[in-house]
Amino acid sequence: PQLANQIAAGEVVERPASVIKELVENSLDAGATRVDIDIDKGGSKLIRIRDNGGGIPKGELALALARHATSKVQTLEDLEAILSFGFRGEALASISSVSRLTLTSRTAEQSEAWQAYAEGSEVAIKVMPAAHPVGTTIEVADLFFNTPARRRFLKSDKTEFTHIDEWLKRIALVRSDVHFSLSHNGKPVRQYRGAVTDAQYLQRLAQVAGRAFADSAIKVDCQHDGMRLSGYLQSPALCELVDCHYFYVNGRLIRDRLVNHAVRQAFGELGTFEQPAFVLSLTLDPHQVDVNVHPAKHEVRFHQARYVHDFILQVLQSALRQMQD
Ligand code: ADP
Ligand code: MG
Repeated sequence: PQLANQIAAGEVVERPASVIKELVENSLDAGATRVDIDIDKGGSKLIRIRDNGGGIPKGELALALARHATSKVQTLEDLEAILSFGFRGEALASISSVSRLTLTSRTAEQSEAWQAYAEGSEVAIKVMPAAHPVGTTIEVADLFFNTPARRRFLKSDKTEFTHIDEWLKRIALVRSDVHFSLSHNGKPVRQYRGAVTDAQYLQRLAQVAGRAFADSAIKVDCQHDGMRLSGYLQSPALCELVDCHYFYVNGRLIRDRLVNHAVRQAFGELGTFEQPAFVLSLTLDPHQVDVNVHPAKHEVRFHQARYVHDFILQVLQSALRQMQD
């Protein structure tokens, strides 16, 4: 199983940013409204994620570290209506197979926290003497310590940090309800406060995409037949993000041919006008979309493809007309 975990780790865990992605998605799945990320040396020495989610019951700590153990999908029916990020039960097992992982957690029902430690295939559970509030802290130390070839593949601390920072921006744009912080080598670098109102969201948009982006962005928000497309469009010159095209489906950033086609068609009708920067979020009934296509989960499959395509096209067309006026 150890080898299988390490092989799976090759798919799931490429670098510190992919560890953070998996851990933060777990925090979000657990209903966290606050996630604090601390890293040392670009995450290669230490990654610590602390959340205020529901926690893991003592009896499930060891299981959480086991391969194919997921608490999120019980039936085939669940698998067809996935709203959570995780469902494969691979991430924690994979990460712990290539690091020294400490899991500390407390549920609301428990009066104390419990801790599990895993180094490769060794898993130990012990009472946590220091109190931990309801929620979970996961520490991943010495990533790839036992897979030197992969460790050598890591880039400079600065480059690894940039990957983490970019990923955090992407999730911060769509999970504006959650407070995120990021510290590097003990120094606070990012602080995204939970945003509820439109004004607060624009504040976050300004932090992530630049003040100029947020100040004059065109708002999109349209609902039809259980689908909703919302977000902002802006001239690409005013976008500070590396890649200014962000499209989320039910909270996941995706790259999808159908979506791209609808977006390009809407923007293409404007003739020479450059394709705008956008941060757009589509929500729809999870039964209407398959996310179980690839482990990296960037692709989706819509059941009513044509219908979704035309909805996106029409909403964008009317927003763009407004942008031109
Ligand atoms: P998956 O997310 O696919 O279920 P993971 O390996 O990422 O698999 O996590 C295994 C299990 O550990 C999850 O199903 C969940 O029950 C539990 N878990 C992991 N991280 C957290 C967290 N931060 N808060 C609560 N539960 C967690
Ligand atoms: Mg997961």
